[in-house]
Amino acid sequence: MFIYALSIMVGSGLVLGFILGFAAFKLQVIEDPLVEQLTTLLPGINCGGCGYAGCEAFANGIVDGDVKKISQCRPSNDEQRSSISELLKNTPNQKGEFIDIKI
Ligand code: SF4
Repeated sequence: MFIYALSIMVGSGLVLGFILGFAAFKLQVIEDPLVEQLTTLLPGINCGGCGYAGCEAFANGIVDGDVKKISQCRPSNDEQRSSISELLKNTPNQKGEFIDIKI
């Protein structure tokens, strides 16, 4: 009886572990490394003045193509905007595309 109960528990654990592992693999979100690079070039004060929840969200908006001008981030200075523009000219996103955006 004990062996029977133990085998059901181990079998259930293996099946559920496999299902959870498969779901974690299939549902994982892989963030574009360009987002992190852009975030480091932004002012980092997370003021929300750009209309996004913070600098990382703004960087995501740039990579997604939703942001049309870097100057939407008003606290950024000319040097930061130029650095972002240069990065975008030289670094493709995950799809291999270069993002064309105005300063
Ligand atoms: S306006 Fe600039 S500093 Fe403020 S949250 Fe947006 S990206 Fe960050």
